Amino acid sequence: MSIISKDISKAVELLNKEELVAIPTETVYGLAGNIFSKKAIASIFKTKQRPKFNPLIVHIPNVEYLDKIVEHIPEKAKALANAFWPGPITLVLKKKASIPDLITAGKDTVAVRIPNHPVSLKLLRQLEFPLAAPSANPFNRISPTSAQHVEDYFKDTIKMVLDGGVCKKGIESTIIGFKNEEPIIYRLGSTSIEDIERIVGKIEIKNRKSKVENPDAPGMLERHYAPKTKTILTNDLSNSIEEFKNQRIGVLLYNNILNDEAIDFKIVLSEDNNLEEAASKLYDALHQLDKQNLDIIIAEQLPDYGLGKSINDRLERATKN
Ligand code: AMP
Ligand code: MG
Repeated sequence: MSIISKDISKAVELLNKEELVAIPTETVYGLAGNIFSKKAIASIFKTKQRPKFNPLIVHIPNVEYLDKIVEHIPEKAKALANAFWPGPITLVLKKKASIPDLITAGKDTVAVRIPNHPVSLKLLRQLEFPLAAPSANPFNRISPTSAQHVEDYFKDTIKMVLDGGVCKKGIESTIIGFKNEEPIIYRLGSTSIEDIERIVGKIEIKNRKSKVENPDAPGMLERHYAPKTKTILTNDLSNSIEEFKNQRIGVLLYNNILNDEAIDFKIVLSEDNNLEEAASKLYDALHQLDKQNLDIIIAEQLPDYGLGKSINDRLERATKN
């Protein structure tokens, strides 16, 4: 039987009982639980097989709630919250003592955002606690952008996916931390650097890809978001196709410029060169390619500006060995 449902009151009931519910957001689906429940938080880590050093993002229903979660809000954090919330920007701020260490991997900061999705906002307003919600995929696998993706991963381990349709943005939030009141980008994401700089001026980027733990952005691992099929990233498509022409090849293209008989399966992210459209389709494309029994997926690098930068970041992580 399907665990996908549109019933918000059932989601409220499960969350009140310290169970997990997968929730829709504008970025990707989240695996949500009560931030104050040890049981719920432990099941998030267990269900995802996520390492404990990888902290969780706290989802709140409105800006006023921020004061209950964090000690201090730098001026530029306020400006970003005003400009982009509800929306795909996560702020990492000094946490209040009441925020459990399990959520923050023992750090004195907490990551927080207001998701821009009517269903999850309605849900959050009916709860007496915020929701911790990492992406609803097993650790290192492709993030889910539809209720079906989540069901495919977790139908035997969770009770409910709250259906909110296909995620409009399609890649994770941009994460911003602060040092001496100045913002730093820890993870590229659905809000472009250009849009952020319009609000706070030139910003430092520390989108580190580390095999080991990074003290500022723990969990930002080099390999992530990965299909099971061997996947490579290229800026020279014809050359890569030539190299693998005797194998079953799938290609992930930005736009449709290619007509090659060596290809067994292809997906075009945006016929008319629209980076927003490409971002929204990226993970579903990877999910589909991964189901085709291919020997190799060849992904084309996107233009390196706007959301192209964030998409390239995900493709780099998906193709690391
Ligand atoms: P996900 O929930 O899968 O989108 O991943 C959440 C990401 O948020 C983690 O991988 C961390 O890099 C980041 N994050 C969460 N909390 C913190 C924090 N306190 N400081 C820095 N980064 C954080
Ligand atoms: Mg994730």
